[in-house]
Amino acid sequence: MNLILLGAPGAGKGTQAEMLSQRLGIPSISTGNMLREAMKNHTPLGEKVRTCMDSGKLVSDELIMELISGRIAEPDCKNGFILDGVPRTLVQAEAMDAAGIPIDRVVSIEIDDAVIVGRMSGRRVCTKCGSSYHISANPPKTDGICDLCGGEVATRKDDEPETVLSRLGIYHETTEVLKDYYRKQGKLFLVEGDQPIEDANRDILRAIGETV
Ligand code: AMP
Repeated sequence: MNLILLGAPGAGKGTQAEMLSQRLGIPSISTGNMLREAMKNHTPLGEKVRTCMDSGKLVSDELIMELISGRIAEPDCKNGFILDGVPRTLVQAEAMDAAGIPIDRVVSIEIDDAVIVGRMSGRRVCTKCGSSYHISANPPKTDGICDLCGGEVATRKDDEPETVLSRLGIYHETTEVLKDYYRKQGKLFLVEGDQPIEDANRDILRAIGETV
């Protein structure tokens, strides 16, 4: 199963991708996490994207394609993968098709901007492994500490309210068109995002043909 999760920033893609990864036994691939990791390690890639990332702008399609092609070629992806946050532009979606990266289904997590803005103010992310939390909906068992790896759980710089609004604008202008692209291919499924995490997960599993 090669799966794409679409949805505005804060729709719950990261959380759902992690749950699906555990259930299906295939990796979840987040270009956002890969880029944050590169920034944390001060690699040339990390330094190149830092300004873009911190202000919530998209990094170049070429760079993303290089990153994602390399990652998908790794052995752990041979039985499938879940893409979280990529493709983000029509150019990326077309480039993936042109590169022969097969996609089985695309699930779009649907949610209103107003709900997202409220959610993002409570969002926290593990600075070590990238796991997502929310201070009220999905808090770590110990305050500030990641359940999975023990890393520090903190607010993302690009989750500041002004940056969130700009990222939502970019989503509606640039990424939402991908729904049409995949609808025409008969691969698109919509799932309600404004519901408890487990319920959204159940709906996603149904959409991809898993028994729940
Ligand atoms: P995310 O964690 O998916 O919200 O991504 C955080 C940031 O990483 C975005 O605001 C972009 O700056 C960058 N980014 C992640 N994935 C992509 C992508 N597919 N295309 C362009 N920029 C991306």
